Amino acid sequence: MQSDFAHMNRVSVMGELAASLSHEITQPIASARNNARAAENFLKMQPPDLGEVREALACVVGDADRVGDIIDRIREQVKKAPPRKERFDLNAAINEVVALARSVTNRNGVSVQTRLAEGLSSVEGDRVQLQQVLLNLILNAAEAMSPVEEGARELLISTKEDQTGVVVAVRDSGPGIDPEHLERVFDAFYTTKPSGTGMGLSICRSIIDAHGGRLWAEANKPRGAVFQFTLPGTDAEFTNPLQASERI
Ligand code: ADP
Repeated sequence: MQSDFAHMNRVSVMGELAASLSHEITQPIASARNNARAAENFLKMQPPDLGEVREALACVVGDADRVGDIIDRIREQVKKAPPRKERFDLNAAINEVVALARSVTNRNGVSVQTRLAEGLSSVEGDRVQLQQVLLNLILNAAEAMSPVEEGARELLISTKEDQTGVVVAVRDSGPGIDPEHLERVFDAFYTTKPSGTGMGLSICRSIIDAHGGRLWAEANKPRGAVFQFTLPGTDAEFTNPLQASERI
C-alpha cells in the first residue's frame, strides 16, 4: 500500500506543478490589478492625471511580462527534464492508471472500458510521465461527462498499433469540444472550468512531444471527445520477464 501511495504521489506531480505555478503568478496578477485600479482612479480625477495613468499602465505591462517569464521558465523546465528511458508494457501501465482513477470514475458514475491490443510492441520512455498523461486525460473525460445523465457516461480506453507505432485513445461520451477549440485546449491556461488551471493538456503535450509522439483531440462519434496520442514503437513485443521465466 505504501508503494501505491508513493506512486500516486508521483502521478499527481502535475497537480503540484499547477499549484505552485498558480501560487507564483498570483502575486504579479494581484499587482497588475492594483495598478489598473490606480490608473482608473487617476483617470477619474478632475482633470485626469495622465502622467500617473501612464506610469500605472507601464507597471501593468511590467506585471504581465513577469507572469509571462514565470510561465516560460516553468514550461522550459518541463520540456528540459529528460524523460527516463525504459522499455515497458504500455497496456500494463494503462491498467494501473485505470485502477488508480477508479475511485473518481466510480464516484462520477462513469463506466470504464478498456480495449487493449494484444501483443502490443513495447514502448520506450518515462513510464510515470506517460501515466500522468493518461490520468489527466481520464480525469478530464470524467469531469467533462458530469453534465451528461448518469448511465450514459462512458469512457473507452484503447490501444492499437499502426505504421508509426502505438496509438492510445481515450474516448468519452461528454459534450465534446467545439471544433474551433480543438487546438486551443492545448494552450497553457486555456480552461472552461471555474477552478481549472488550464495547464493539464499543455503539460501532456510537452510530455508526448518529448517522447517523439503526437497528442491531439477530435470529435468522438456519436458524441463526446477523443484524445489520442502516438508513441514510436520499439518493434519488439513486450514480454514480462517473470512470465518468460515461467514459460521456461
Ligand atoms: P483544466 O482541466 O484545468 O481546465 P486542461 O488543460 O486539462 O485544463 O483542459 C483545458 C480545457 O480543455 C478544459 O477546461 C475543457 O474545456 C477542455 N477539455 C479537456 N478535456 C475535455 C474533454 N474530455 N471533453 C470536453 N472538453 C475537454
